[in-house]
Amino acid sequence: MNCPYCGYHDSKVVDSRDVNDGIRRRRQCLRCGSRFTTYERLQPASLFVIKKDERREEFNRNKLLTGIHKACEKRPLPTGTVDKLADDIEAELYHLGKAEIPSAVIGDMVMERLKSLDYIAYIRFASVYREFTDITALKQEIDTLVSSEAETPASTSQLPLLPSEELGTMAKGRQRRRK
Ligand SMILES: [Zn+2]
Repeated sequence: MNCPYCGYHDSKVVDSRDVNDGIRRRRQCLRCGSRFTTYERLQPASLFVIKKDERREEFNRNKLLTGIHKACEKRPLPTGTVDKLADDIEAELYHLGKAEIPSAVIGDMVMERLKSLDYIAYIRFASVYREFTDITALKQEIDTLVSSEAETPASTSQLPLLPSEELGTMAKGRQRRRK
């Protein structure tokens, strides 16, 4: 590690500390005396994604994150949900210990999680990922969701499909009608 100030190739460690997933070292240049910080982190083995057309490309967390972000845009999810989801998936992928993973496996992992999180985000992601070619296929998927929700109404931690104000208005309407 060359000194960022004078470029000298040698430095001594003046402080060393464990941080989340690595080691932070405070160093001092042996020539100019400037101090700088380095981080040491475990480099996970490379992971390649096999795409539908059989091309391989190195796994890219940002790409995963962008896809999930798009699907969750403007949904009332707690801050950090999207990052946590991407983290979980990344960890699970590396945990599999494989060098290559089909993109379909990753897509299914995202869909599975979004489905239990937020139906709108799930449908958005699925419509891009599964490339619903016509409205009928998309409608079928939504029908499946709606019927599965009807079967398990109490246990679900799902966000309502309608914004709460709309639900409020509907409830009020019902009350008014009752009078
Ligand atoms: Zn220096």
